[in-house]
Amino acid sequence: MTKINITDMLTSYNKKNLTICTVCSHSSLQIFNGARKEGFKTLGISVGEKKKYYDAFPLGRPDEFFIVDNYKDILKCTDELREKNVIVIPHGSFVEYLGADRFLTLDLPTFGNRDVLKWESDRFMERIWLEGAGLTMPQEIKKPEDIDRPVIVKYYGAKGGKGFFIAKTYDEFKKRIQKDKKYVIQEFVMGTRYYLHYFYSPIQNNAYKLSKGSLQLISMDRRDETTIDEVQRLGSIAELEELGIHPTFVVTGNIPIVMRESLLPKVFEMGAAVIEKSINLFNGIIGSFCLETVVTEDLEFKVFEISARIVAGTNPYIAGSPYSELIQPNLSTGRRIAQEIKYANKKNMLNKILT
Ligand code: AMP
Repeated sequence: MTKINITDMLTSYNKKNLTICTVCSHSSLQIFNGARKEGFKTLGISVGEKKKYYDAFPLGRPDEFFIVDNYKDILKCTDELREKNVIVIPHGSFVEYLGADRFLTLDLPTFGNRDVLKWESDRFMERIWLEGAGLTMPQEIKKPEDIDRPVIVKYYGAKGGKGFFIAKTYDEFKKRIQKDKKYVIQEFVMGTRYYLHYFYSPIQNNAYKLSKGSLQLISMDRRDETTIDEVQRLGSIAELEELGIHPTFVVTGNIPIVMRESLLPKVFEMGAAVIEKSINLFNGIIGSFCLETVVTEDLEFKVFEISARIVAGTNPYIAGSPYSELIQPNLSTGRRIAQEIKYANKKNMLNKILT
């Protein structure tokens, strides 16, 4: 991969006329709305025509649409997009559907550290990072023959939990596994799920202080996953499995939530440790990230995943969350991203938050 030189790219930019740009999907309404609140122009890359739908949300609609036929075509249009002074805000769908390899070659100034991709997308490296930071992850079961408790089997690169399944024995595993796919087996952690939405600024020291910069907790959610979250309406999982009906983990939405206050110090400790470790490993995560956790009955956190960009779980909080309200009224993650870009631009530090 040719290393993208952000400083060079930014020299041609009109810094008084920066445009916040993302793909029209996932958390784009929130990103455009947040950018608009901070006085930025916005541009939505739309795969196919989506204008009609955005017209229904005037405050979440981008000022301008840039329509392409498919995700790959974005790569061919970067000269044109740079002329519009765009700063790209990546989100889950953007990276997933463009493809991580292509995303790394996208020669547009992009919010966040793209080097994080290889650390979060490979489950082995992700474990080195998170356990190296002192976090507890669900135990991994290396050999299916050793399944001695409920486990969750996860396929690599599965979109939105698709195809994941629960097994309680080796026999169950054998019946369900698709052998042609790469997978990991994790203990199924019993507890309650919390998806924690952080924001790390390497350039501002106005929140929970770290060795460099500071950390905020903007919000948290619980994912709504079909069919696991509603399956009990039809019968117990055991009953249904006998009929060959298996619960699935496909994300369909997000539910707002708060956590007992006494757990918040631990939430900050975990976020801080993940950042400090990332600084050692790859020059540091930047901006929004999410730790996906289960809290057990002993009030211990088990972290099963990290997402190193804005997650869709922040969408319930376009007008702020019970946590962001304590930072600034009306503060969403999308808006916080825009604020960071505005601040960096003012202080001539854009190259510290863009890659
Ligand atoms: P992931 O793709 O790793 O985010 O997992 C998709 C979903 O599976 C999560 O949102 C959880 O509901 C569930 N899940 C993942 N890992 C575990 C685990 N170790 N224990 C219990 N549930 C899990």
